[in-house]
Amino acid sequence: MSDAVVVGAGPNGLAAAVTLARAGLSVKVYELASQLGGGTRSAALTLPGFLHDVCSAVHPMALASPFFQEFGLAERMELRVPEVSYAHPLDDGRAGIAYRDLNRTVAELGRDGAAYRRLFAPLLARVEGITDFTQHPLLRIPADPIAAFRYALAVAEQGSLLGDLRFRGEAAPAMIAGVSAHSIGKIPSLATAGAGLLLGTLAHAGGWPVPIGGSQAIADAMAADFSAHGGEIVLNHRVESLAQLKAETGAKIQLLDVSASGLLEIAGTELPSRFIRSLRRFRYGPGACKVDFALSGPVPWTNPELAAVATLHLAGTKAEIARSEAQVAAGQHPEQPYVLVSQPSPHDASRAPLGQQVLWSYCHVPAGSTVDMTEAVVRQIERFAPGFRDVVLASKVITAAEYAHYNPNYIGGDFSAGAVTIRQLLKRPVVSARPWRTPIPGLYLGSSSTAPGPSVHGLCGWYAAQTALKDVYGLAAPDLSPSDAL
Ligand SMILES: Cc1cc2nc3c(=O)[nH]c(=O)nc-3n(C[C@H](O)[C@H](O)[C@H](O)COP(=O)(O)OP(=O)(O)OC[C@H]3O[C@@H](n4cnc5c(N)ncnc54)[C@H](O)[C@@H]3O)c2cc1C
Repeated sequence: MSDAVVVGAGPNGLAAAVTLARAGLSVKVYELASQLGGGTRSAALTLPGFLHDVCSAVHPMALASPFFQEFGLAERMELRVPEVSYAHPLDDGRAGIAYRDLNRTVAELGRDGAAYRRLFAPLLARVEGITDFTQHPLLRIPADPIAAFRYALAVAEQGSLLGDLRFRGEAAPAMIAGVSAHSIGKIPSLATAGAGLLLGTLAHAGGWPVPIGGSQAIADAMAADFSAHGGEIVLNHRVESLAQLKAETGAKIQLLDVSASGLLEIAGTELPSRFIRSLRRFRYGPGACKVDFALSGPVPWTNPELAAVATLHLAGTKAEIARSEAQVAAGQHPEQPYVLVSQPSPHDASRAPLGQQVLWSYCHVPAGSTVDMTEAVVRQIERFAPGFRDVVLASKVITAAEYAHYNPNYIGGDFSAGAVTIRQLLKRPVVSARPWRTPIPGLYLGSSSTAPGPSVHGLCGWYAAQTALKDVYGLAAPDLSPSDAL
């Protein structure tokens, strides 16, 4: 018997589990895979000695997430913050480089520097308010209304054709489009601009840290705290139904780190029909095709400044990114896709044998795609790093269809567990200030199908667990800090 049970050991499930255990409850986690971590697993996908991130690799929220701040993630593992958050190479060998230092970024952007500063400086001055606003359900009075207003204005500009009026050169608009395309969708649109301006601001605030030991280290830090507080993780255990869950654990709290469709599968027979209809209307977005590389040495970037950059957006101009995202939305596979690249090796020697490197990359593809995009991805890398093919020792592709099989939360390969549109930021998966609560007493949804949505931040699980603790046991949110670790 347990007080609470969590289904799914992704970052949200683990955040929920930690919170429930820290409140003094006996907690069990059921995970269907043989390895914990969900979207934060790392594994030897290519050759022995090469450690690849299977899903997430780029972690702006590891420092910025209010959950990770409360949990003290940076004190529990090594998060190395590079001087450059991300870079966006162009065909002539130039690159837009987002240094943590806004002044340096502005200086290198030349004639567009001042316009870039006017966009980001007011956001940077209110970065905590913007994080608070974007990392909660939208249906809530913002803690810092000035921050929310500035952010909304910037999103309205960059999410529309007005965005084209700000800059004269190619680098700055390409940088903003590149960071916006982390959220799959139309460029420009309010939803993608929202993600881009948050990530773009964080690039000049705490930065985009590289987790030493790979993304798995983030999951392991949460699992260690959970175990230290009496929690139990059961791997290789698929939960099929609510009845099964109740019979196996007798828990008063059942918290699911599954997609909105997963909630329907597990609890569908017991949910009221209105709620079922609402979950059925929840939409999933395009998928991702990922290619991991084991390299004999560094990538031969044309621009030498890129050698130690941990995150790169390979796609050329803003217009090219908009075209490739539109093709994906129309069900096509772009010949020149937007490619997101993570190059952790210069910051983390533990990922590959001495002198060698790993490279992580993915591009967007239509939902359910079985197409291997390796060649298109390699061509995009070669475009900015001629000779790249010569340093590739091995590669491993994971298609969108394979992702859907790998993790049932990734419906059709949509790793956001639900399309990120303005509608679905409001209604995730229902319109509510507490969207983690279901109509069944004791049953909560805490995955990225709920607000505030995708990314490794643990917030959906943390908020769901806080809601459950209050509803079911009348308990306040517990302290999660490392000083209370045991
Ligand atoms: C290719 C790729 C690249 C990404 N890049 C980034 C990135 O760079 N930065 C970033 O922040 N995010 C990135 N993401 C997204 C990020 O991984 C997710 O937003 C995040 O993992 C969501 O966390 P979660 O806990 O909600 O769900 P998940 O991490 O998906 O975890 C859900 C867990 O529940 C388990 N589960 C599901 N159903 C059941 C069941 N019935 N019974 C038992 N267990 C079950 C699954 O096996 C899984 O372990 C990426 C994802 C992918 C696939």
